[in-house]
Amino acid sequence: MRIANHDGRLTLVRRDDTVDVATASDGRFDSAIEHVFDRWDEFVDWCRSDGLTATGSTRPAGSIGPVSPRPRQIFGVGLNYVDHAREAGSPLPTVPLLFTKFASALAGPHAVVELSGPSVDWEVELVVVVGRRCDGVSRDRAWDHVAGLTIGQDISDRDVQLEGATPQYSFGKSFANFAPIGPALVTPDEFPDPDAVALECWVDDERVQNGTSANLVFSVPQLVEYISARVVLEPGDLIFTGTPAGVGLGRTPRRYLRDGETIVSRIDGIGEMTNRVVDPAGAVTDLPADAVAAR
Ligand code: ZN
Repeated sequence: MRIANHDGRLTLVRRDDTVDVATASDGRFDSAIEHVFDRWDEFVDWCRSDGLTATGSTRPAGSIGPVSPRPRQIFGVGLNYVDHAREAGSPLPTVPLLFTKFASALAGPHAVVELSGPSVDWEVELVVVVGRRCDGVSRDRAWDHVAGLTIGQDISDRDVQLEGATPQYSFGKSFANFAPIGPALVTPDEFPDPDAVALECWVDDERVQNGTSANLVFSVPQLVEYISARVVLEPGDLIFTGTPAGVGLGRTPRRYLRDGETIVSRIDGIGEMTNRVVDPAGAVTDLPADAVAAR
């Protein structure tokens, strides 16, 4: 089962058409997708009965918003792929390295990413959307608490992330539109193996990342167990599970996003997200920082 946020309305996406859930359910579920996660089990039952026979539409989607636009919490996980930890020159973490992406960074799958400086980097990630309240959930029950998976970009300003005595992950990764997600939420049962999902990232014509979530240091079930032993996860919350190798920071020389480039993020079984990059300050990379600040 696959749902999306089309023109601000909760939409069931079927193979050949889409169903406006509020209309098809006679208002039993309202159009705001953020409300559905608190009634997730009931909604899944509806989709698998009435949702199958409801009248669909083949109209184009219009604007597509984030699949969970009002999460109470957004978690990120650092250095959670073996190859990415290696390229970052870091030892493998012995416990999940967690940070927050502030909710104000959240955006839809086609959001424009404005460069905050000369060191803005891409990170394609598998993103978990929580479907049931998690308070001390063990790893063997974790997938039962996941509504679905979506694509995310953990866009990162490396200068801001690394400017302090200890890393400021949350600030470097929370500029407006630095957390685009989408285009759809896909339930775990749709994947041949939800613990081995292929993901890739392109910047223009270059494939810069190519990995599989089978290589996560801490799997989705392990992350749910670890986080929910410390913080209560609520329906609609998001976990950005980490990025595989191939980010700009890990390259020699380092290579960051530039004005006019396009980031394409793909995950097998979910689809594709496209984000254009613009530099609101002009050619930031060619100017000293104080000249940019004076603009
Ligand atoms: Zn990340």
